[in-house]
Amino acid sequence: MKRIENLRNILERNRTDGFMVSSKVNLAYLSGFTGSSGLGLVTQQELLLIVDGRYVEQAEKQAHAWTVERLGDDVIVFLRDRLALLGVKTLGIEAERVSQAKYEELRAGLDGTQLMPTRGWVEGLRVIKDTTEIAAIEKAVSLGEDVLEQVVSGIRAGITEREIAAELYFRAMKAGAEATAFETIVVSGPRTSLPHGMPTERVLQPGELLTIDFGVILDGYCSDITRTYAVGDCDSRQREVYKAVLGAHLAAAEAIKPGMTGVEAYETAVKTLQEAGLHEYFVHGLGHGVGLEVHEAPRLARSKGAERPLEPGMTVTIEPGVYIPGWGGVRIEDLYVVKDTGLSDLNHSSRELRVLC
Ligand code: ZN
Ligand code: ZN
Repeated sequence: MKRIENLRNILERNRTDGFMVSSKVNLAYLSGFTGSSGLGLVTQQELLLIVDGRYVEQAEKQAHAWTVERLGDDVIVFLRDRLALLGVKTLGIEAERVSQAKYEELRAGLDGTQLMPTRGWVEGLRVIKDTTEIAAIEKAVSLGEDVLEQVVSGIRAGITEREIAAELYFRAMKAGAEATAFETIVVSGPRTSLPHGMPTERVLQPGELLTIDFGVILDGYCSDITRTYAVGDCDSRQREVYKAVLGAHLAAAEAIKPGMTGVEAYETAVKTLQEAGLHEYFVHGLGHGVGLEVHEAPRLARSKGAERPLEPGMTVTIEPGVYIPGWGGVRIEDLYVVKDTGLSDLNHSSRELRVLC
């Protein structure tokens, strides 16, 4: 109930009577309900979970603290009745999660209630993970690493990128994952210069690099790891680029501390890549939070959204990469928790360059 208490404090500070939770992930975070559709209504006195007929039983089982109501035929009429009953004059809605069309519909239908677009109220709570959440993330990370190891130990030249992705999915589900956290990235040879390349029928050749970016969902929480490998053999240039990326990763992991902004954190890796003359090939942010969603706050990047200082309890990935068009690329990603003194690593697998043969 700490989460609800925190949200109610936000409502009070913003002089808002009620808050409508439209985001599936935010609803799961607040209520425990994990169905794919549902609406939450939070006021200082009430917690109302509105679901359709498919989800009544599940909602009652999962959302103990909430009153579960079955949605009538017309959602707007239903909401108008409930809001009137609860005395909600101002209603916060999740501006980033409600479509413009839905917003218009609500505004037209909910006369008598003033809609207040809000941003990041629940996400702002989710950014600091409690110990239960960290434990869940740690479990997901560990499962993801086990599955990756099982698959990678069997990879040889001759296999296709798509076979690797299929094997990862199959093993993840078999090991108890609910799903993969995102579409697995598998790129080989010159395709390793594509930071988000999707797996193809391309056959791995000896002497090539291979990058796998993979995550699982376990108990609602995500993992996210990237490794670049050498297939059969590797040359000095591949080793050199790998060493530079690993250096940037380790430098960032060492330097990042609470109080630092996401922009400053990003710069720690850039500095190291600059020394290696490779910074122009680092074309994305350094990292992101991971929790119920695989990409959430904070951001470690040179962007406006990354100005918030890091705080203990946040999770961040560190994932520097170098992508040289026509040649290939390297990325090394791990997940960390921000502690009082610095970062604590949730991963256990080696980051040294591994030659698969
Ligand atoms: Zn990743
Ligand atoms: Zn990531």
